[in-house]
Amino acid sequence: MGYDGEIAGGYAALLDVAGRVNDLLNAGSVLSWDARTMMPKGGAGTRARQLATLAVAARDLLCSDETKRALDAAEAELAARPADDAEVRATAQVREAIDYHERIPAELLHRKTELGAAAHGIWAEARRTADFAAFAPTLTAMVGINREMAEAIGYDGHPYDALMYRFEPGTTKAGLDVLFARLREGMLPLVRAIAEAERPRSDFLFRHFPVDAQMQVALRMAERIGYDTDRGRIDLTVHPFEISFTRQDVRITTRVSPDYMPMSLFGALHEAGHALYEQNVDPDYTRSPLATDLVSLYAVGGVSFGAHESQSRLWENHVGRSRAFWINHLDEVRAAYPGLLDDVDAEEFYRAVNRSEPSFIRVEADELTYDFHIMLRCELEAALIDGSLEVADLPEAWNAAMKRYLGVDVPDDANGVLQDVHWSSGQIGTFCNYTIGNIMAAQLFDTATRGEPGIAAALEGGDYAPLRGWLTEHVCRHGRRFSRDELLTRATGRPLDPEPYIAHLRAKFSDIYALA
Ligand code: ZN
Repeated sequence: MGYDGEIAGGYAALLDVAGRVNDLLNAGSVLSWDARTMMPKGGAGTRARQLATLAVAARDLLCSDETKRALDAAEAELAARPADDAEVRATAQVREAIDYHERIPAELLHRKTELGAAAHGIWAEARRTADFAAFAPTLTAMVGINREMAEAIGYDGHPYDALMYRFEPGTTKAGLDVLFARLREGMLPLVRAIAEAERPRSDFLFRHFPVDAQMQVALRMAERIGYDTDRGRIDLTVHPFEISFTRQDVRITTRVSPDYMPMSLFGALHEAGHALYEQNVDPDYTRSPLATDLVSLYAVGGVSFGAHESQSRLWENHVGRSRAFWINHLDEVRAAYPGLLDDVDAEEFYRAVNRSEPSFIRVEADELTYDFHIMLRCELEAALIDGSLEVADLPEAWNAAMKRYLGVDVPDDANGVLQDVHWSSGQIGTFCNYTIGNIMAAQLFDTATRGEPGIAAALEGGDYAPLRGWLTEHVCRHGRRFSRDELLTRATGRPLDPEPYIAHLRAKFSDIYALA
């Protein structure tokens, strides 16, 4: 594969046009990076138009007669190849994406975009004043549009399945119900036991850590795990993210609180994990459908949003929040903050950054309680979409679920149902990615460290190259060639399996909290 500018044959012509779709999407990503890091707020209105124009141009080119002619010719040309051949897969993904986009009427998409543009400000104001009623009519309209989207896309089981397809193909409401039940069974006893246990010391995390020093530490730790800054850079933002403009330029951001140091550090490790995925996609796939999500219209090489999250969670939690990591790196972190961490040892630091406490806010939740925030959102979204829950009843349902799962009383809707940006932008069906990512991270990490003893030994010594090599070989380099479960089956011998994740949480938190 690859792009050489020569047009010959069906597949080459298909690669050429798919490469131009990728260029348009990457151009949008550059504008998006700028909007989230550098742009003055006055630019927001026109920038939104520019991004919409590029997205529409990419979709129109994807669904154009030129693409369809090249696609027909490519399918004929590759007809004798095996089903898992990379070029066959790339071709099939173009076909699938065109089918997907053509099922959604332009008029419906337009209404969704318009509503999303207006909804953001209404949501932000409602959150500021903790006034759900002010957002409810907009959310009702957004749920209605998403229901129409589900009907247009089509589904076999539950309309929510159609909405999740864009983010996590193959995931169903029925499958999530089974998965979530197993997670709750495994995790709730831990949450309950920890609520009764003695808290580890964490005062030293809340001292005053200079912003510049935090950014330096964040970058150095990202580089430690293998983030390549010849093809990347780190910047400061309010909401951290990773974004790539092909594997040659993969950027990360982190957020900094001067009074809570772990935020910048773990934010950077998380985003660097995402970045490692993109930086290690096979270079031959650059600009091809195997490095472009043509359904979601993002120029990314990761196979699903959940698979992407598996890489960020793996590096953040299984590596960055491990005991070995702090035995190896606390001295270096301490040296960056003279006098601030002199009274802490590696064991105390490890325990502090792994303390678990139920809270209201998803983005501040710890490794153990995070998934309950996700389960709650997926269950409520599915109920809104199938009509079994009315928007007016949503805050009550939210607060009841928070109480049931985590035992907390939500003080107001700003700290509850209004906390996430997702619904205002029209995104329903994406929250499952986070929990699927957690499960997949544990499954991959378990196989990597058990299967090859050299990897575990290297991690003990602060050497991340063997683990990174294994992940590159089994996950990253394949880009979008294999589905998520194909990838997992090839790497670990089975599709998505929650047991390694539950075992990981049980072992880690039982040890830290001295549970029986
Ligand atoms: Zn992430």
